[in-house]
Amino acid sequence: MRLVTVGSVAFDAIETPFGKTDKIVGGAGTFITLASSIFVKDQGIISVVGEDFPEQTMKEMRKRGINLDGLQIKKGEKTFFWSGKYHDDMNSRETKVTELNVLEHFDPVIPQKYWDCEYLMLGNLSPVVQRTVIERLPKRPKLIAMDTMNFWMDVAWDELMKTIALVDVLIINDDEARQLTKEYTLLKAASRIKAMGPKFIIIKKGEHGALLFYGGRVFVAPAFPLEEVFDPTGAGDTFAGGFVGYLAKTDDLSFENMKRAVIVGSAIASFSVEKFGTQRLMETSIEDVEQRIEELNTITDFEINNL
Ligand code: AMP
Repeated sequence: MRLVTVGSVAFDAIETPFGKTDKIVGGAGTFITLASSIFVKDQGIISVVGEDFPEQTMKEMRKRGINLDGLQIKKGEKTFFWSGKYHDDMNSRETKVTELNVLEHFDPVIPQKYWDCEYLMLGNLSPVVQRTVIERLPKRPKLIAMDTMNFWMDVAWDELMKTIALVDVLIINDDEARQLTKEYTLLKAASRIKAMGPKFIIIKKGEHGALLFYGGRVFVAPAFPLEEVFDPTGAGDTFAGGFVGYLAKTDDLSFENMKRAVIVGSAIASFSVEKFGTQRLMETSIEDVEQRIEELNTITDFEINNL
């Protein structure tokens, strides 16, 4: 299998200055696989839901080529629930509720057809589960990318360090990078993270784009400027899904291709925030992404001849 993703499949309740939702489908694994399905058909997900999770969403995921053999459905139990409220800047948010439910005792089972996976995306989930998946795969994938969040830094620091040491790419946002390294500037934070294990570090800055670090090199990617942002939830996961999906499709791990993958991630993430939950992402085609990349190209292109 080309790509396997681990990550929460969830219900979210979101509040922004522009509106409020009841429980809608969310979860890191959901956003990642929906985004990567734009590029990769041969992919699977490892996660767990309760019997309250809608069959319709699973049908939509299968329709996009996402294999769900690794998605456990626990009878009589409830799906993971997260609720968050965004501040007026729409960039920062506070978590109101985290109910782990089925995630609390999640023991990932890896279907045999996932065993030869080439690209592994460890989406936001307990670092113990993330590491268990690496250990249970009979062969190390060509590339392991990982996302995490402040919640796991607060409750599982040592486990998180052990997992970070095993991955090739760490994708986190600026606040998380600061919390993880206790450094203020993102360049210093990236060097510290490099010392923890990952060769490639991506630091996302919400509406201000993302930075890619490798060796002594850095690439600055813009975010697509939008007139209206409805719901930033899942933007980071969508970015990660676009990034890893593009890499899995092109199968080229050079720094130049990583730069392209970051741009692709940025372009796809800009769709996901236009509506609540996974709705906009479900409607996004590869042609839409292509067009947004062209626009990104235009708005960042400049020439200076003489000073
Ligand atoms: P993002 O906006 O990219 O940081 O991702 C938000 C998604 O992460 C939401 O859909 C949540 O369901 C999910 N999420 C929130 N907290 C956790 C957690 N502690 N573990 C796993 N997934 C989480």
